[in-house]
Amino acid sequence: MVDTVVVTGGAGFIGSHLVDAVLARGQHAVVVDDLSSGKADNVAGEADLEVVDIVDAAALNVVIDAAAPTAIFHLAAQASVTASVTDPVRDAAVNVIGTLNVLEAAKRHGSPVVFTSTGGALYGDAAPRPTPETFPPAPLSPYGASKWAAEAYVRTWANATRIGHTVCRLANVYGPRQSPHGEAGVVSILSNLLWQGKPPTLYGRGRPTRDYIHVADVVAALLAARSVNDVFNVATGREAAVSEIFRLLAQASGASAQPHLAPLRPGELERSCLDPSHAQRRLGWRAQISLEEGVPATYRELVAAFSAA
Ligand code: NAD
Repeated sequence: MVDTVVVTGGAGFIGSHLVDAVLARGQHAVVVDDLSSGKADNVAGEADLEVVDIVDAAALNVVIDAAAPTAIFHLAAQASVTASVTDPVRDAAVNVIGTLNVLEAAKRHGSPVVFTSTGGALYGDAAPRPTPETFPPAPLSPYGASKWAAEAYVRTWANATRIGHTVCRLANVYGPRQSPHGEAGVVSILSNLLWQGKPPTLYGRGRPTRDYIHVADVVAALLAARSVNDVFNVATGREAAVSEIFRLLAQASGASAQPHLAPLRPGELERSCLDPSHAQRRLGWRAQISLEEGVPATYRELVAAFSAA
C-alpha cells in the first residue's frame, strides 16, 4: 500500500518543494492549502490538492480522515510579519488555532507531525550568534509570538500522545518559487529587481545579516526530522550580510546597477544566525549548498520563471 503524507501549505514556496521530494520517494502527497499566498500551479500534478483553511477544523478533519496519513508536515501559516502586526487576531487564528486543529486531526490517526517554526523571528537581537535552540525566545512581532505559542502546543501534544512531534525552526530560506512580492525573500526580491534593470534598495545600508539556507537543504532536514520529539534549528550557521547576497546576484545577472542604501526599517533585526549543530548531531543532517553555489543557481531559475510568467 502506498504511504500517504499530508503537507499543509504545500502550494507555497517551501511546501511545494517538500511535496516534490515526497513524490520522488514514491509516497502519495495530499496538499492542504487555502491558496491565500500559495499557488495551485506550484503543486505537482501527481499530488492531491485540497483547498481548505486549517482554521476550519471540520473541513480539515474530512481531508485528514480520508488521507489517514503516516506523517503530516505542517507548513501552512500566516507567514508575514507585517500582516501579523496589522491583523494579529487572524495571525493567531491561523498559526495557533490552525496548528491545534492540525495536531488534533493528526492524533485521530497517530500521525507524527513536523512543524515549521521560525528561527529569525523568535530569538531577537540580544541573542548570541550563532543562536542555539536553548536560548529563550524573545519574539518582536505577533508572528514570532504565534509561532512560539504553536511550538508549545506541539511539544505538549508530543508529551500527551507519545507520537513523534518535531519543531523545525527555519532560518532565512531561499530558492526557486519564492515570491518576489513578499516582504522577506531577499534573494527573490533582489533577483526580480535586477532582472527588470531596476536598482534595488538595501535596507540597513546592506549591513544586516541573516542565515540564508537553500530550500533543498530545508526539505532534506524536514524529511530527516520526521518522528523525532525534539526542536531543531534548520540553518547553515553562516552569517551573511545583505550586501553579500547583492554582490552574488549582481555577478550572476551581469547587472551594473548600484543599490540605493537606506536605513533599517522599524522592527527589523540587525543580525541573525542560528546554530545548526543539534540537528547535525541528532539527525545526521547538514546544509550542503553554499551561498556561492545556491544564490546564482536560484537567480537563473527565478529569472526563467519570471520570463515565463
Ligand atoms: P508560503 O507563504 O509560500 O507558504 C505558506 C502556505 O500556507 C501558502 O501556500 C498559503 O496559501 C498557505 N496557507 C496560509 N494560511 C493558510 C490557512 N489558513 N489554511 C491553509 N493554508 C494556508 O511561505 P513559505 O516561505 O513556504 O513558509 C512555509 C512555512 O515555513 C511557514 O510555516 C513559515 O512560517 C515557515 N518559515 C518560512 C521561512 C522562510 O524563510 N521562507 C522562515 C522561517 C519559517
